Amino acid sequence: MAELVDARDSKSRGGDTVSVRVRPSAPFLDLGYLEIRMNSTDCLFCKIIQKDIPAKFIYEDDNVIVIEDINPKAPIHYLLIPKKHIVDFLHIEDGDERFILAMSKAVKKIAKDLSGSKAFNIISNNGTKAGQSVLHLHWHFLSGKNIY
Ligand code: 5GP
Ligand code: ZN
Repeated sequence: MAELVDARDSKSRGGDTVSVRVRPSAPFLDLGYLEIRMNSTDCLFCKIIQKDIPAKFIYEDDNVIVIEDINPKAPIHYLLIPKKHIVDFLHIEDGDERFILAMSKAVKKIAKDLSGSKAFNIISNNGTKAGQSVLHLHWHFLSGKNIY
């Protein structure tokens, strides 16, 4: 018998991933965790990057896209998304540096176009329990509202 540790269907919430983690209950069968994730072909943000799903693009280069969030939590709410399907911070690997650098540089580019104080917040929900609903790494860029 296996114990279901965590099962989430984020598709039903507009997300992209079915994630199932199980742990055998008998100690002698304890092989650790088995994690099953749907791959990038099922990912909402990968589909937006491929232009299979429409989005309002603010910026794009070889490594990153910046789009408007469909459900803005502030007057300006953009999503910075690497063009590689990286699930979250814990899945960043050696060789992914160019994507993280491109995201950082894109922040500077979009911040230049802000009016007024040019103040903004960068937020990244990491893991479903922290509120991450789309399991493709992204940063929220929020401006025009006091978050804290
Ligand atoms: P998370 O909850 O994973 O931190 O952020 C995912 C974000 O993606 C949410 O703020 C949500 O509003 C946004 N989102 C979900 N579906 C779509 C979509 O189809 N298009 C766009 N542009 N944003 C989306
Ligand atoms: Zn993806």
